Amino acid sequence: MINAKIIAVNVKDIRFPTSLNRDGSDAMHTDPDYSCVYVTITTNSGHEGYGLTFTLGRGTEIVVQACKSLASIIRLRKLEWIYNDFAKFWRRLTSDSQLRWIGPEKGVIHLATAAIINALWDLWARIENKPVWKLLSDMTPKQLVSLIDFRYVKDIIEEHNARIILEERMKNREQQEKKLLKNGYPAYTTQVGWLGYSDQQLEDLCKKFLNSGYTAFKIKVGKNLEDDIRRCEVIRKVIGYGNKLMMDANQVWDVNEAIEWMKKLAKFKPVWIEEPTSPDDVIGHHEILNGLKPYGIGVATGEMCANRVMFKQFLRYHAISCCQVDSARIGGINEILAVYLMAHITNTPVCPHAGGIGLCEMVQHLQMWDYICLSQTTENRIIEFVDQQHEHFEDPVQIKKAHYMPPMSPGYSTKLKKESIINYTYPTGNYWQNKIAEEEKEETEEKCD
Ligand SMILES: [Mg+2]
Repeated sequence: MINAKIIAVNVKDIRFPTSLNRDGSDAMHTDPDYSCVYVTITTNSGHEGYGLTFTLGRGTEIVVQACKSLASIIRLRKLEWIYNDFAKFWRRLTSDSQLRWIGPEKGVIHLATAAIINALWDLWARIENKPVWKLLSDMTPKQLVSLIDFRYVKDIIEEHNARIILEERMKNREQQEKKLLKNGYPAYTTQVGWLGYSDQQLEDLCKKFLNSGYTAFKIKVGKNLEDDIRRCEVIRKVIGYGNKLMMDANQVWDVNEAIEWMKKLAKFKPVWIEEPTSPDDVIGHHEILNGLKPYGIGVATGEMCANRVMFKQFLRYHAISCCQVDSARIGGINEILAVYLMAHITNTPVCPHAGGIGLCEMVQHLQMWDYICLSQTTENRIIEFVDQQHEHFEDPVQIKKAHYMPPMSPGYSTKLKKESIINYTYPTGNYWQNKIAEEEKEETEEKCD
């Protein structure tokens, strides 16, 4: 590691007004403004790292404050203090003797941890002049294992067996990398089925994505059963039964309600129902999985799974058929690697959650590492794709015939364009200042009438 230290940590609240078009709307989150807390780490060597965590608008300011509190742990630190024993540093960041009380390892403080850890990974990859997937894939099994804090999951995975698994799996990584560079990694789209979209929009978007090569589609359900049936009819009419359909309820149901509701949608042959109930209910997911097994419907969750300990329970008790780890919800790559290893041991495919702001940009690196070094297959595996907000990134995802193509620029693909930051920083950015001025003008006019 180069001899340098962190001299500044800048944290920004960035919000995009996606609620205007109901982009991203589902049964639980009806009007999201896709937002992020954006962290820039500056070093005295001139290298910078850019990381983020995803939020929905209001509340972003709370995560900003949490990031500022955690930033004091890394400010003025030498890079070697962090990277030479990354697992030890990760524990230092997540186990601060006072800050941990407001978690631990969950909620706002863990979202903030993700933003900082993601920025540190971007910084490391930029220093090494490699994209993150390549940085990870070039490591030895020993180095990979040294990144992970195995505390609380040693009853299922620890340093020794993780290393044995990776040593075995990584023997043919060169061959895997070649296949990845040639073929890319398959994607499915959630773009077609936002709950706030009309039937006509649904139909048009299905046709558009079908024509660009997509064979797997996801639709939001759970608000009104009659609407769900009608929307499923529209989507199946366009995509037929030869293509895959997934459904996502975003946590709206109780356990029995989920089973009964999905029985009524079973005729549309969904591959899985995603987030059918509370993201903390391991037993509930297990019951839903068993209840829907006779109908051939799987159960997926993970985008709001709080940490590796929750994942351990879902995976160990086979409560889900698909693990949807998120790149900005739990504590960054270090913790995510533990989840991939636990999914491997329990034979559960990982189909990472994406969309939002920068989530597609990040998860592609993780799933590509998995393809090269761990599962080495795309069977029952696919990356979510949402075609929103990529234009704000300097190195946006590249999709070719419904496949993510490996990013080649150094870093974690998380650097935002300067003009996007200037326009959408909340509330001082140009867009928000204009909106606030407009609203004030309308209010004054109303009072005068
Ligand atoms: Mg979802």
